[in-house]
Amino acid sequence: MPPYDSDSSDEGEDYTETNVLLGYATQEETGDTISHLGGRPGWIDEKTAPSGALAKCKVCNDPLTLLLELNGDLPKNFPSHERRLYIFSCRRKACRRKEGSVRGIRGVRVAKGTAEKAAAKKTEKTAPVREESKPQPNIGGSLFGVKNESSGIAPANPFSNPFSSGASNAAPSNPFSSSGGAPNPFAPPTPAVKITPEDAKEDAETTLPETFASKVRLNTPAPEPQAPRPHEPWPAESSFPAPYPLYHLDAEYETLEGPSVPEIPENTRMEIDTEGSSSSVGGKEDKEVFESTLDKTFQKFADRVGQNPEQVLRYEFKGKPLLYSDNDAIGKALAAHSENGASSNAKVTTTARGGAGMPRCRNCGADRVFEVQLAPHAITELEAEELSIEGMEWGTIILGVCSKDCKPEDIPEGEVGYVEEWTGVQWEELASKR
Ligand SMILES: [Zn+2]
Ligand SMILES: [Zn+2]
Repeated sequence: MPPYDSDSSDEGEDYTETNVLLGYATQEETGDTISHLGGRPGWIDEKTAPSGALAKCKVCNDPLTLLLELNGDLPKNFPSHERRLYIFSCRRKACRRKEGSVRGIRGVRVAKGTAEKAAAKKTEKTAPVREESKPQPNIGGSLFGVKNESSGIAPANPFSNPFSSGASNAAPSNPFSSSGGAPNPFAPPTPAVKITPEDAKEDAETTLPETFASKVRLNTPAPEPQAPRPHEPWPAESSFPAPYPLYHLDAEYETLEGPSVPEIPENTRMEIDTEGSSSSVGGKEDKEVFESTLDKTFQKFADRVGQNPEQVLRYEFKGKPLLYSDNDAIGKALAAHSENGASSNAKVTTTARGGAGMPRCRNCGADRVFEVQLAPHAITELEAEELSIEGMEWGTIILGVCSKDCKPEDIPEGEVGYVEEWTGVQWEELASKR
């Protein structure tokens, strides 16, 4: 639990609640039996593991160690999908700071009949309207035992009829919340999230034909050609290194001191997070801007994380990552789409739509979007039992996922499949550099 002053609950002016869900490691059960830091991975159906090829470090080819498994169900966005997110890392010192030593996997099971329903829906609708930038309702509330009941999020049955979501305001409250004891005392009187036809629109967006979706990302990097999926068995448990200690996860919406998040840094022009900005990623001019804001990005990271220093993860589907640095390749690619480069009020910064500076989904070609990032305190927790002082050296690990939550082609509806997703690792700056 973060060290809040519980007296400030009702003020609203003293604290700003953001759309970012923070995860906290705890040894106590939270009621969410799926999401955890460390430990060993579990699978959606408890038996179907990913291909063993995904279990290995791309540098040394040895099995990886689990850092995070998250229940990623998003009943509002993907009502008929079950989702799991995994982040693995190689424990070998020699693999640190190397591409492929950290890997992200998304597990998905799409309920039978989903494609049929989507097809039926398409014929009902005429040209789908492109969703404009607007504040997103808090999403992810069904995730890992969030305690904030004030957000009005109704974790709907993932298999419920997608058309029924308009009525789900009245749905039962988070089934996990009871285990956490008292409701979050810090919750400001947030109005319940209204589920409107807009949501149906968003749903439609996820099923747009490829040709339409591709129009808006002409200038994003082309996906690498998809390698044929090797079918290797998941390695035996004995071939993995010892797991990190297991922690359950508590979740609370981020609150920040003061009515709004930190000001925009000078000479930043990144608040242009319209659709169009995705085309300018990696542009020369942007590079110069990034270099001139060096260190400010890190400072913002440190300040923001420092307000809730025990957070081990930050979650917001289609939100913005908080960059650790804008000085590395990851930072340069994502800066225009990050919290650090975003503007004023945290409630309205959730406008990143596609083209988030991440490579497209290798499975279906859709844009990837930010979903979760690990914060440095996760290292403290994971390495709590380690005697060696030589531990992990990242500042943050960012996971970007397919915006359509696609499943592998060869996995039929009703079965569990896995897709490798994009991880952006921002390594801790070496002492000599700072
Ligand atoms: Zn390795
Ligand atoms: Zn995809």
